[in-house]
Amino acid sequence: MSTGFFWDEQCFWHAGGNYASTLPIGGLVQPLNATGLPETQEAKRRLKNLMDVTGLSDDLDVRRAPLATREDLLRVHPASYLDEFKRMSDAGGGELGRRTPFAAGGYEIASLSAGLVVAAVDAVVSGDLENAYALSRPPGHHCLPDYPNGFCLLANIAIAIEAAQAKGFAKRVVVLDWDVHHGNGTEAIYYDRPDVLTISVHQEGNYPLDTGGIADRGKGDGSGYNLNVPLIAGTGHTGYLHVMDTIVLPQIAAFKPDLIVVACGYDASAIDPLARMLATADTFRKMTERIKAAAQEHCDGRLVLAHEGGYSEVYVPFCGHATLEALSGSDKTAPDPLAETLRVRQPSARFDAFIRGEIDHLASQL
Ligand SMILES: [Zn+2]
Repeated sequence: MSTGFFWDEQCFWHAGGNYASTLPIGGLVQPLNATGLPETQEAKRRLKNLMDVTGLSDDLDVRRAPLATREDLLRVHPASYLDEFKRMSDAGGGELGRRTPFAAGGYEIASLSAGLVVAAVDAVVSGDLENAYALSRPPGHHCLPDYPNGFCLLANIAIAIEAAQAKGFAKRVVVLDWDVHHGNGTEAIYYDRPDVLTISVHQEGNYPLDTGGIADRGKGDGSGYNLNVPLIAGTGHTGYLHVMDTIVLPQIAAFKPDLIVVACGYDASAIDPLARMLATADTFRKMTERIKAAAQEHCDGRLVLAHEGGYSEVYVPFCGHATLEALSGSDKTAPDPLAETLRVRQPSARFDAFIRGEIDHLASQL
């Protein structure tokens, strides 16, 4: 049994512009690097490149995947949204929702991104792989069924869970979202469902501005099965591990899932431009070690990580490499070039104690 790595170069071609120089992009015309949004291909492509250089890729079961089917997408998104997205994509691109521009063929690339997560989950729940990582782009955790936002055009993880459930797998799922922004899309999709426990650990008041509060616990049959952990800016390595140990892991143990999916963003890193947290590559390594152990304890190791945000083109590759080392157990390492700098920049002992007190206070409200 091995760790799968699902990726496709074409996911790096998702872009918000319509032209490469004077050529309309699409087909075989690759977009240029320069785009207006921070969600560019570089952080993701550089992760894959780093894995190739260190040899980590050689220790993984590297695969591509087909596009998610319309049937897959319709389990989460209404036909009216898919039709409008497809029409605009065919017409050369455009923008729907909030901060979600796409170029010609963007519908197919988003379907491919979702397809990578669908294939990763399918391979894990069917016993083909022990665990898996999907380098999905565009990301998915902000996307509502009929309203894309925050760079997310399709709800990749929900689409994959629903596809697995349609096959009779994944009856009880935990989605742990450690992207630094609130997983508002995943929350909305599963807000009234008791079979999918959604846990979002995020910087409070970052994005979206008006969601992600601790009081939002789900509704109806789903009451108690949505959990938000809003952290104060400046939370660092020990704070994140404290959240894992005192809130996330006990919640997972009580829920007893048969699959764990992580919305794996790296924008809680200390040098991310879109947040103000102090996580390091080692933080992601340690969180992955913990969630992998939880998966082994509760669901025969069934664990899928789907790539979400992370906007430091320099640091995301090292955070992702540490994550994949922990996930796979590979001994191919990429030593963190910022380790010493970021160790010094961690919160002071006094502030760290305050942060942990705030986390304990959150835990007491659950
Ligand atoms: Zn994010």
